[in-house]
Amino acid sequence: MPALIDKSLGQSFNTSLNVLAVPAFNDNYLWLIHDGVHAAVVDPGDAQPILAALDAHGLILVAILLTHHHADHAGGVQTLLQHFKVPVFGPAGEAIAGVDRPLREGDRASIPQLGLTLSVLEVPGHTSGHIAYVAPEQHWLFCGDTLFAGGCGRLFEGTPQQMVNSLAKLSQLPDDTLVYCAHEYTMSNLRFALAVEPGNPALVERIATEQAKRDRQQPTVPSTIGLENATNPFLRYREPAIVASLHAAGRLQQADPVAAFAALREWKNNFK
Ligand SMILES: [Zn+2]
Repeated sequence: MPALIDKSLGQSFNTSLNVLAVPAFNDNYLWLIHDGVHAAVVDPGDAQPILAALDAHGLILVAILLTHHHADHAGGVQTLLQHFKVPVFGPAGEAIAGVDRPLREGDRASIPQLGLTLSVLEVPGHTSGHIAYVAPEQHWLFCGDTLFAGGCGRLFEGTPQQMVNSLAKLSQLPDDTLVYCAHEYTMSNLRFALAVEPGNPALVERIATEQAKRDRQQPTVPSTIGLENATNPFLRYREPAIVASLHAAGRLQQADPVAAFAALREWKNNFK
């Protein structure tokens, strides 16, 4: 939706929301959802880049949203709270200092200043209480370290079966859903994807497209659910070509999809 500008008042009423990527650490993206005045931050692992971005864009922080407890996602919360008294949404299943709006599957995170309501999915696997936020109107997904562009998070606390179920929820979102994941791991993920599914033309094409973005120092994130379903091996572990690669590498004996997923994740852990 375009911005509405009321010239008679000399004020601008921006009815659309934007998402700004704020790089942090080596390869994290912190996400600022804003309307030109107010902002909500997703996974502020570090407060300083967020404070700098708010300042640079003249934005007021009105909410903090957390997907899971890891420090590179939640480490900036206390410092931000010293500057802004705002609600902190986060997973009910994890103990994170500062969270005062614990969320479970089906709950909603409402940010009235932005006219934004996000719905919550529980997506355990990377951590046991990990949640994801979906903006149903905008077709945005903030999925932390569960689904990555071309890959998925490591299983630190959950089981392969949990991660399979979590990724299935995300893969069923509309194809044009923008996937705002938390790291720039894409090229490394796609190198692995090509090793396990070399005959996938959509994957070959994607590698060229994403490499061109990196060559221009642009983020490859967000991707889309449609692109992930077409190229991400962790959503495609039932594909005969991927199962054949697992067998050929001696990494899979059973004919079980969850075992295939687990073997794929294990292979990626050790892939150079
Ligand atoms: Zn994490």
